[in-house]
Amino acid sequence: MQMYSEADVDHSCLADSQITILGYGSQGRAHALNLKDSGFNVVMGLRSGGASWSNAKADGLTVLEPNEAVKGAKIVMFLTPDMVQKALYESVVDDIEQGATLMFAHGFAVYYKQVQPRSDLDVSLIAPKGPGGLVRRQYEEGHGVPCLVAIHQDSSGDALKIALAYASGIGGARAGVIATTFAEETETDLFGEQAVLCGGATELIVAGFETLVEAGYQPEVAYYEVMHELKLIVDLLHEGGLKKMHKFISDTAAWGDMISGPRVVDSASRAAMKEILNDIQDGTFARNWVAENENGMPEFKRLMQEDLDHPIEKVGADLRGRMDWLQD
Ligand code: NDP
Ligand code: MG
Repeated sequence: MQMYSEADVDHSCLADSQITILGYGSQGRAHALNLKDSGFNVVMGLRSGGASWSNAKADGLTVLEPNEAVKGAKIVMFLTPDMVQKALYESVVDDIEQGATLMFAHGFAVYYKQVQPRSDLDVSLIAPKGPGGLVRRQYEEGHGVPCLVAIHQDSSGDALKIALAYASGIGGARAGVIATTFAEETETDLFGEQAVLCGGATELIVAGFETLVEAGYQPEVAYYEVMHELKLIVDLLHEGGLKKMHKFISDTAAWGDMISGPRVVDSASRAAMKEILNDIQDGTFARNWVAENENGMPEFKRLMQEDLDHPIEKVGADLRGRMDWLQD
């Protein structure tokens, strides 16, 4: 494993350079404000009708239409949803300077050939391993969210140097930047969010809730048990791994964890994980997701509504409403 830290960063490669960021959502806002606070010259490329335009202006940033914003930029960072990056790239490519760097926070568009970058450009990836809100908060506290770095195209010979300087600017080099490839970042990221972080975790919560409620227990008690309390466990894991969790939970909980966990996540679940990974590796997932977008996302909307209509959402909203400090 190759891990870079602040000591490996040479900021001089970005001295007096313009960094243009396309998108001011979860990641875009965090990157732009962190880079600005780190002393870089940041220009936002946003559509004038969108909500982001006024948000970025209110935060004191320079805001232009995307094709104006990329002019003169040494780095153009794509922080819009993955599915709009192809059309956005095609609309700005003629205004991007020769020899500039295209950057991404997730490899999807490049790895699945949605974006096929001009050959004179450097193409790299700085992927923070955390949501944008955390990227900003950790930076403000003097810390950073760890990042992955990958190089897809190194026309200048400086692609890595430039990517590491960017990672430093958003605070990522404080925590460490691990070298990877676009393939590894894209495939592991998709697998993680599908099988474990988002898909796996929420399905586990909902199934646990339904099991308790169907058995006649109060929904409120079930909610506290399977959703609210998960934060305590995740915080312990995040801070100190399995060891710290085991130190803080009771012996009864630890015993139950060790003998019952493998009954839930059993060989069938592991086989399903392998299938999910295969679909990601052979491009099936990407093809279906791009097609779903092109069709106007009917299945996406239907499934999302199903999630939002689930009884755990009603119980959860009522209970969380009594804890107004959670709204912060
Ligand atoms: P968001 O969904 O938060 O991006 C929203 C931004 O994109 C807004 O500024 C919006 O502008 C703009 N946008 C949306 N559609 C268009 C369009 N058609 N043309 C131009 N601009 C548009 O994105 P994320 O921050 O979630 O993701 C950005 C990238 O970072 C992705 O590649 C993602 O995979 C990656 N990533 C995301 C993480 C996360 O925490 N969310 C974690 C790590 C990586 P407007 O207001 O005008 O609609
Ligand atoms: Mg991820």
